[in-house]
Amino acid sequence: MVRMSKDYALPTRLAHIGHDPASYHGLVAPPVARGSTFLYPDLETYRRAAGDPDHRYRYWRLGNPNADAFERAMAELEGGHRAVAAVSGVAACALPFLAHMRAGAHVLVVDGVYDQIRDLCGNVLARAGVEVEYYDPLIGAGVAGLIRESTALVYIESPGSATFEVQDVPAIAAAARARGVLTVADNTWSSPLAFRPLEHGVDVCVVSATKYIGGHADITLGVAVARDEATYRPLKTAAVDMGYSAGAEDMVGALRGLRTVQLRYRQAAASALRVARWLDARPEVVRVCYPPLPSDPGHALWRRDFDGAAGILSLFLDAPSDRAVRAFVDALDLFPIGSSWGGYESLLQPQSLAARSFAPKDRGTLLRLQIGLEDPADLIACLERGFAAMTGAQ
Ligand SMILES: *Cc1c(COP(=O)(O)O)cnc(C)c1O
Repeated sequence: MVRMSKDYALPTRLAHIGHDPASYHGLVAPPVARGSTFLYPDLETYRRAAGDPDHRYRYWRLGNPNADAFERAMAELEGGHRAVAAVSGVAACALPFLAHMRAGAHVLVVDGVYDQIRDLCGNVLARAGVEVEYYDPLIGAGVAGLIRESTALVYIESPGSATFEVQDVPAIAAAARARGVLTVADNTWSSPLAFRPLEHGVDVCVVSATKYIGGHADITLGVAVARDEATYRPLKTAAVDMGYSAGAEDMVGALRGLRTVQLRYRQAAASALRVARWLDARPEVVRVCYPPLPSDPGHALWRRDFDGAAGILSLFLDAPSDRAVRAFVDALDLFPIGSSWGGYESLLQPQSLAARSFAPKDRGTLLRLQIGLEDPADLIACLERGFAAMTGAQ
């Protein structure tokens, strides 16, 4: 088994990580290993495999070569011990909750959390008797004051969804660790090029590979990476118990995406910063939410902890009427309305802060822009046409 040396720089590791050509007759790229069942030559070999907690390789859902390659790559990139692949990012985010939930438990969830995880908390976790408390993304070490005897985990997402609040992850992780409480961080924004939560004291890191790692809007996949064996084992058990396996095509697609993710990520960030700066100077824009902008409230923490950025930003649009908002959005031919991000194509999605307790109070209509690999000058010209359409609609 080839394991890339930690001494190699990230681009070198990304070119080779996960897949071992020697395990497939020397094939450079991993084949899609479609199948359900692995055969055994004799009873003794089967009995040994059946007694192995890693279930390797008996049945696809329990463990398979595509999952091994993807999980190995992600564990190494995040600086963790081992990883568990899941059929979507949400499944990966949900896994630590499901692995550790019990009636009467209390969980602390950042208020800027991805919408679907808020729904998980309100639906499945609430029915199971788990008490969910949302905390201010800017709380930092103050999270210590919210930890109770019954607190099972602290959930972090930094930067958060929609308005991209940057959290003081090391301070939160240290406060939770001091009380023996598990920390989980959604690291999709960094994917994991700009920030590795496990290096900052977090126990479990979850990533939606649907976004930058896949990068081409054609897979859905997630992964949970654990710091050590003690944090890994409950995740693996819960994943197996709930039939959490991911599809072969998606995992091979993610391995392919890893080869170029750094180039795409860097380009998206460079273009996003150009667009963000241009938007920031427009009179129609109340505020641009993008941590790399010096005016962003999270800029100092971002500079301290991150070494890169995603190409996604939000703006509070100061439109005189809903008609004007519609004119702006509908004029943006290079920003069709779509829910995802991290792909090669630019997108726009309206955002709602209605469910939040600690949302920013800026006036205006919140719109999220995913910046793709188009020429940023074309994207800016497109936005300029949008503003013209908005003015015309008043
Ligand atoms: C999209 C997203 C998810 C969910 O990932 P899916 O692959 O769509 O299930 C989780 N967290 C964040 C921050 C996301 O943007």
